[in-house]
Amino acid sequence: MYYKIFSKTTHKFESDIINKFDLWLASLAEKGGRNITASRVASELNIDFSTASDLLVFSEQQEILNRVYIIRCPECDFIIERIPENVFFDPDTNILDKKHFCNSCGEYYNVDEEDVYIAYDIAKRPDKAVDINETPQNEENKGNFTQADSLANIEHLYKIFFAPSESAYNELLSMMQRLDGPFENTTEQGHALDSLVMKLIGNIKNSLCSTDIKTTTNQIDCSAIIGISTLFPSVLRELEPSFIIECKNEKTKPAIGYFSKLSDLVINSDSKVGILWTRKKATKSFFEKSYHTYLKSEAIIINMFDDDLHELLVKRTNLLDYLSFKIFQVTHNSFDSNFEMFHKNDE
Ligand SMILES: [Zn+2]
Repeated sequence: MYYKIFSKTTHKFESDIINKFDLWLASLAEKGGRNITASRVASELNIDFSTASDLLVFSEQQEILNRVYIIRCPECDFIIERIPENVFFDPDTNILDKKHFCNSCGEYYNVDEEDVYIAYDIAKRPDKAVDINETPQNEENKGNFTQADSLANIEHLYKIFFAPSESAYNELLSMMQRLDGPFENTTEQGHALDSLVMKLIGNIKNSLCSTDIKTTTNQIDCSAIIGISTLFPSVLRELEPSFIIECKNEKTKPAIGYFSKLSDLVINSDSKVGILWTRKKATKSFFEKSYHTYLKSEAIIINMFDDDLHELLVKRTNLLDYLSFKIFQVTHNSFDSNFEMFHKNDE
């Protein structure tokens, strides 16, 4: 391997794919690779877009790549601006609210999420030099930007904002296996679920979680702040600026009193979503109340339980995709629908 980390760290990629990617990236590093998109990786390595996107996210986690957001001119596709990730999510940046000047057209334009592309720059040189004669030829910008790389591609966006590493998944799974104890006391029992949920939610990029928040009347099990401004339509818009989670690590169906406490907390705050995280599925009356609360106040109260944890940690369904589905169940009063019904035809 040219990048040693690819052989040291556990990952899900097939060896011939990671070998090809390693060589390609290392040779690109010699030329100061910038503006690398998932489309480009897919076309150069002849792999599917989704795998290409996973490779880039993984390399970013390994600090080989830095993510940048690229604004292109809506008229001529000229690159107007390159914005580093930390700046992009600063509320002051707010790129959709201002006009951007294109040097090529000589005009100011408004941009939307279709004009903003996710790309990566090489941040770390390979551990071993590449013989440039042996490497595939890379033509600059060959098939570089497609709509699939833009913020308008919700699936791509979700993969980037929720991408736990292998070790994070393993830790979450072992926490899940410890949910039934044995415990010394009820505090420890409750904490087992609180800490699992907090760790899981904490894997949403730019999120902050706390189990220490109290209102003047209540202790909140877990509060999450999503530091992503409402740039694009997605579940992130429902979750920002914050949402609230109540965890009940109990073997019985959750008491309806938990619903009332949580919905009061959500209605009387700027959160839009509350999650009651339990071990058993909530009762029918929970779901009825949840739909009526949504109609009355737009507060969305969802229930997550063991089957959902299985979906997230064993089947590794993307948490953001899954939360969109759970929110859909409430807003459409369709609690018998299941996530499989939403699977795409091309997979
Ligand atoms: Zn232009």
